[in-house]
Amino acid sequence: MASSVHIVGGGVIGLSCAWELSRNGHDVTVVAPAPGRDGASWVAAGMLAPVTEAQFGESTLTAILLEGSRLWPGFAAALEGVTGQSIGYDTTGTVTVALDASDRASLDDLLAYQHSLGLTAHRRSATECRGLVPALSPALRGGIEVPGDHQVDNRALLLALVAACGKAGVRFLEAAVTEVAAGPELVLADGRRLHPEHVLLAAGTGLAAIRGLEVTGLPAVRPVKGHILRLGPPGAGHGEPTPLLDRTVRGLVHGRSVYLVPRHDGSVVVGATVEERGDDSAVRTGAVHDLLCDARAIVPGVDELELREAATGMRPATPDNTPCIGWTALEGVAAALGHYRNGILLSPLTAAAVVDLLGRRPVAPLIQALAPA
Ligand SMILES: Cc1cc2nc3c(=O)[nH]c(=O)nc-3n(C[C@H](O)[C@H](O)[C@H](O)COP(=O)(O)OP(=O)(O)OC[C@H]3O[C@@H](n4cnc5c(N)ncnc54)[C@H](O)[C@@H]3O)c2cc1C
Repeated sequence: MASSVHIVGGGVIGLSCAWELSRNGHDVTVVAPAPGRDGASWVAAGMLAPVTEAQFGESTLTAILLEGSRLWPGFAAALEGVTGQSIGYDTTGTVTVALDASDRASLDDLLAYQHSLGLTAHRRSATECRGLVPALSPALRGGIEVPGDHQVDNRALLLALVAACGKAGVRFLEAAVTEVAAGPELVLADGRRLHPEHVLLAAGTGLAAIRGLEVTGLPAVRPVKGHILRLGPPGAGHGEPTPLLDRTVRGLVHGRSVYLVPRHDGSVVVGATVEERGDDSAVRTGAVHDLLCDARAIVPGVDELELREAATGMRPATPDNTPCIGWTALEGVAAALGHYRNGILLSPLTAAAVVDLLGRRPVAPLIQALAPA
């Protein structure tokens, strides 16, 4: 059953839902100040990592991440096919390495946990790791190879989603929503009032500033800050750069996590801190220093790259760190929020679930468990 839907939010969740809803016959408008150009989605690393993101005690979330990962090949092919734009989807795999003996012990615990969940991950010696990634430091204590953890260029993904939405007839209203009311009704910052049949709230951490949500039954969404760096090969005059890495490298460096995600253009994304600091988005020198130190400890060639960008982003997190997807207690208003560390990975799964929801079809049991109620 097709309807008119206004989506509040133009990050990866709002845009992927907009595209899929539109492809399924809905009349879709995205309401956001800068669709495809802001939010956590713009700064993210783009890892599609159900295995290396598996955390102790979060096996339900891991099952959701695995399901999300399963949809990526079809989603990427459809998006690239319809737009003719590359999104840098790369399935080469991931290696996680340990710097010292204690890091090795932690990785072995993690590997045992990954195996207890039936995940595919292989213990590798330092020599084997360097066989997979020649740029690794000789000083490492080995690691884990995870062939099923992949990546996408999140910025190329957002640009392609905006293009695909445009081709599918999605309208964009570059404005901020200040209030949601019964009807449903959306109130914009300039005072305009909109009355679509359905509203989908996908505003990430921006949710907190929208009035009228007390009656929705939605959980609070808190910002979890992440510092992230973008490095690139030195500029003109240095010849054609040889890419430093051909796959994602994650590392434990004296107990601290770091990752390096290579892009097809030779640049490398280095991340990320995980900080509970409320709304503070300042880029701090200490965090930049720590990320660079940890990255060069496992991949010394980082020293030769240019620092192109140091940024922070706010991961939208619910109290239990799992996403919230479903109808709210306010008639006609649905939500797709709180994707925390894995919103890029979960965008195709979320979009498919939202198509079922708005089509009034039953959603998969895994998704039912994420309903606001
Ligand atoms: C440093 C960092 C690294 C990350 N790395 C990864 C990774 O490797 N893999 C992965 O899967 N995930 C990663 N994530 C997480 C991922 O970025 C998020 O889960 C995801 O981007 C959330 O998408 P979203 O669309 O819900 O929110 P956002 O991308 O934050 O988008 C929110 C949108 O809502 C709009 N908005 C806000 N308020 C309003 C309002 N009042 N009215 C209208 N519009 C509004 C904003 O302008 C924006 O367009 C990372 C996050 C960070 C910060």
